[in-house]
Amino acid sequence: MSDFDAIVIGSGISGGWAAKELCEKGLKTLVLERGRNIEHIADYPTAFTEPWEFKHRNYLPRKVREENPLISKAAGYNEDTAHFFIQDKDHPYVQEKPFEWIRGYQVGGKSLIWGRACQRWSEYEFSAPARFGYGIDWPIRYKDVAPWYSHVEKFIGVCGHKDSIEAMPDGEFLPPIELNCVEKVLQQKFLAHYKNRYLVQGRWAQLTEPNDIHIEQGRGRCQCRNLCMRGCPYGGYFSSVTSTLPWAKRTGNLTVRPHSVVHSIIYDENKGQASGVRVIDANTKEVIEYKARVIFVNASALNSNLILLNSTSKRFPNGLGNDNGLLGKFIGFHIYRGSMGADMPGYEDKYIYGRNPVECILANFRNLKEQDTDFFGGYTTFMGAYRARRNEAEGIGAGFKKALSEPDGWRVYMYMQGETMPNENNHVRLSTNEKDQWGIPLLVTSVGYDDNAEKMVKDFLIQGREMLEVAGCTNIETYDNKQAPGLDIHEMGGVRMGRDPQTSLLNEWNQLHHCKNVFVTDGACMTSMGNQSPSILYMALTARAANRAVAELKKGKF
Ligand SMILES: Cc1cc2nc3c(=O)[nH]c(=O)nc-3n(C[C@H](O)[C@H](O)[C@H](O)COP(=O)(O)OP(=O)(O)OC[C@H]3O[C@@H](n4cnc5c(N)ncnc54)[C@H](O)[C@@H]3O)c2cc1C
Ligand code: SF4
Repeated sequence: MSDFDAIVIGSGISGGWAAKELCEKGLKTLVLERGRNIEHIADYPTAFTEPWEFKHRNYLPRKVREENPLISKAAGYNEDTAHFFIQDKDHPYVQEKPFEWIRGYQVGGKSLIWGRACQRWSEYEFSAPARFGYGIDWPIRYKDVAPWYSHVEKFIGVCGHKDSIEAMPDGEFLPPIELNCVEKVLQQKFLAHYKNRYLVQGRWAQLTEPNDIHIEQGRGRCQCRNLCMRGCPYGGYFSSVTSTLPWAKRTGNLTVRPHSVVHSIIYDENKGQASGVRVIDANTKEVIEYKARVIFVNASALNSNLILLNSTSKRFPNGLGNDNGLLGKFIGFHIYRGSMGADMPGYEDKYIYGRNPVECILANFRNLKEQDTDFFGGYTTFMGAYRARRNEAEGIGAGFKKALSEPDGWRVYMYMQGETMPNENNHVRLSTNEKDQWGIPLLVTSVGYDDNAEKMVKDFLIQGREMLEVAGCTNIETYDNKQAPGLDIHEMGGVRMGRDPQTSLLNEWNQLHHCKNVFVTDGACMTSMGNQSPSILYMALTARAANRAVAELKKGKF
């Protein structure tokens, strides 16, 4: 007799979706979360704090930066958001090569602090490894996930414009936030010059116009405050805390246990399947075991690798499901190194009012149908135009104040999100001699850039400059910040999907080939990295796998 029908490890973006789907289908589900509990609204302490009300006027004090040299580099980490990120000293790991691992350990995980970009993968991304001969083929195609993308988009609310672009399929969109006048100019000039370079409004998990399903979740219209990473009291953007977890809770089938650090998954040698999960209470260090018939691993990509590597048994001495020795290998990420800024002369009679929580996207135009460069893979480009304040004024007092209140000229920026190649050398493994405060081996990260990545950054900087020139921009400055991987916050792989158990860990339903009642549906499952923001794909794959798990359970398979 099991304690629960299902256990979900992790309560973030993907874990929340597993919980929602499993609970809705009637499974008694336990969500195990290593961090503290977060209640929607009650636990957003800075949501309404004005800049001058922060002790340090919303600047990071030097002490915090010195004590957290790693996490303080994360995008958006500041006095107003630091409480949703870990502290460096609490969660060490070993960087064999520089890799800056950004984490948010709490109920809701990184769904509280994510950027909310939600583009679908295209068929071209799913088929690229097979067509161009890198990595292994995905066991699924766009048509397999398309209905699940729709399922997720309708529930979380994604705003966007239907653009009919092959590289970035349309979805079930709420009305888009409008492009501003300079963004419209960029859009027209790119298209006129290149024919296949589409600058469009991005797709974002913001409720521009809530539907009934969102109102039922207790969420309201996005107010465009652009303070999302503090937690949104209006529920204007999607997080597990606003949406999936409360939805699961109201079925009466959900139990969430915060402060529960999952140590490993327990394997039943007689039954040939997993029987439960071993947990260490984060505060008391008590070891507790929970039993269930189905286990979803959603601890975020690298932590899911860690848990599986640490789940050893007589049958699996090298980690659960790891017969081929590939668990922890082929870790990928997105390349964010390239960026640029420029002036856009003119349009000074036009201004923008209010804040904007979204950005435009220039859909990938590289290596889509054919390989048209000397590197593999593509890149999505985020960009936008804004009017800065005229802050170069000298001095203090009335003159300075007046200068600050006047808008400066238009600025244009762009930055890349590029695909990395599956590479066996990019791996994570368990330390053989160092453990964390719960006695769990530390994760060793050995992940770096390759020649393909270098060529892609170079291409982005050349193409970006050319496009800004075509659009009439001046004073173009390009940067390669050479940042370490990890800061791109899209780590993936290590437990990849595939058809062949010799070369992959998971089948087409995200089940471990060799332990079918364990499903891994976060970024760890990624066979290749694509160039789109990945989280909505994790959500779609999770919903798809959860429905499969319930069907298999009903057939008595586990
Ligand atoms: C600043 C920032 C901006 C981002 N912007 C975007 C974006 O615009 N679009 C996009 O697609 N993605 C974005 N991402 C990435 C996105 O946040 C992740 O892809 C997504 O959260 C992954 O979902 P997940 O469920 O795998 O992990 P998470 O959301 O991180 O959830 C994992 C949960 O598991 C818990 N956990 C970990 N280990 C254990 C354990 N041993 N036992 C129990 N619980 C455990 C963690 O505490 C956490 O709550 C962004 C990330 C950051 C940091
Ligand atoms: S921009 Fe929208 S989602 Fe973000 S904090 Fe404001 S209201 Fe909430």
